[in-house]
Amino acid sequence: MSKLKEISNEDYCLKDNIGFVSLIDHCGNDLSVVNSARVSFGKRIDVMEEKDEKLIKFLLNHEHGSPLEHNSLTYLVKCPIFVARQWHRHRIGISINEISGRYTEIKEEFYIPLKFREQSKNNRQASIEGELNNQELLEIYKKSVDDSFSAYKKLLEGGVAREQARGVLPLTVYTEYYWTCNLRSLFHFVRLRDHDDAQYEIRQYASAMIRQAKNIFPKTIKIWEDLGRP
Ligand SMILES: Cc1cc2nc3c(=O)[nH]c(=O)nc-3n(C[C@H](O)[C@H](O)[C@H](O)COP(=O)(O)OP(=O)(O)OC[C@H]3O[C@@H](n4cnc5c(N)ncnc54)[C@H](O)[C@@H]3O)c2cc1C
Repeated sequence: MSKLKEISNEDYCLKDNIGFVSLIDHCGNDLSVVNSARVSFGKRIDVMEEKDEKLIKFLLNHEHGSPLEHNSLTYLVKCPIFVARQWHRHRIGISINEISGRYTEIKEEFYIPLKFREQSKNNRQASIEGELNNQELLEIYKKSVDDSFSAYKKLLEGGVAREQARGVLPLTVYTEYYWTCNLRSLFHFVRLRDHDDAQYEIRQYASAMIRQAKNIFPKTIKIWEDLGRP
């Protein structure tokens, strides 16, 4: 499977042509949500009708979550390590496999924000738009990352193992992983991470993921959104 072929311009959600999230594999659809609920009555359908959409609405309104689990969505993700650290806190209904900094030399690719934000005064975890001198601050940021990469390379050249040399690299370098979830765990992730309280960068990924999943579960996701993402 060629990775590059699978990743469209739209998937580069940080707009830096490096970080991306791409739905590369899936199974199940709106019908599997309905059929896994209808099995309670020994019923199975092949074509969705209006009453099936009502059933999905009922399931979502009443926290009847297990019919959303009989499917899977596999995303290929490339994101800065500080985004991955937030992402990997999501544990339930999820499988992850990640590139190894022990097997591979870490590429000299790092996320540079398009614009720096200011620290919020009343929310200790949040940032706000501001009027910072972006150019000057960007130079400090880039120089610091360049110095780290230069140290990393010197350590490797000096014979230090990759697993130790990587210790000098910053959180803004990229990591890459497969992230497989089901619709229930995706909804939970998106509820928390495509949200005002979440950091801007992870929000870009979460909103791209739900957009991509709409091609597979158009009805269920529309109903979930119309209900206010319960
Ligand atoms: C805006 C924001 C800020 C955050 N800030 C911080 C922070 O400062 N520090 C920090 O450490 N984390 C922080 N987190 C991470 C947060 O605490 C969760 O770890 C993360 O959002 C994953 O959510 P989750 O545990 O619900 O998801 P999952 O791990 O996918 O769990 C899904 C659900 O399964 C159930 N569940 C999972 N594990 C258990 C368990 N052990 N016992 C009982 N029920 C369980 C819960 O109902 C849970 O909601 C932050 C998250 C967000 C969105």
